[in-house]
Amino acid sequence: MAHYSHILLAVDLSNEAGQVAERGQRLSELYDATLSIVHVIEPVSYTYGGDIPLDFSGIQEEIQQQAQLRLDELAESMSIPAGNRHLLMGRPETEIHNVAEEIGADLIVVGSHGRHGLALIFGSTANGVLHGATCDVLAVRVRQP
Ligand code: AMP
Repeated sequence: MAHYSHILLAVDLSNEAGQVAERGQRLSELYDATLSIVHVIEPVSYTYGGDIPLDFSGIQEEIQQQAQLRLDELAESMSIPAGNRHLLMGRPETEIHNVAEEIGADLIVVGSHGRHGLALIFGSTANGVLHGATCDVLAVRVRQP
């Protein structure tokens, strides 16, 4: 049976992140593996896409600060040391792959909503992480609270 030594937990910091985090933590205990955590902030300009040039630096900074607080809170509750917490900026799938390779993770844990219809056609982060990952990926089915 595969023995995982470094598990990377990818969290979107939503209310459902706790369910994914719990599974990652349990697995890290089971395998006595190192646990790292990552959250990726998507630049506001990705979602804006308008023609009028706007300065998003203020709001981006605010988002970053809030994300850091929430990531630290979650990581703290799981005793993940500061050095194993990664707050990155970019496309979630790409950055999750990058950090997984950088730290030598052998399992990435993500949440999955089991979407249907349009959301399925457009894909999900879990799908994106699965495709192109160089290690195992576990998609934890998240339930609506
Ligand atoms: P989604 O497909 O966006 O609903 O997200 C499914 C799962 O992908 C989440 O439960 C997380 O594990 C991961 N994920 C989504 N967005 C991010 C993000 N910005 N940073 C890190 N992981 C993410």
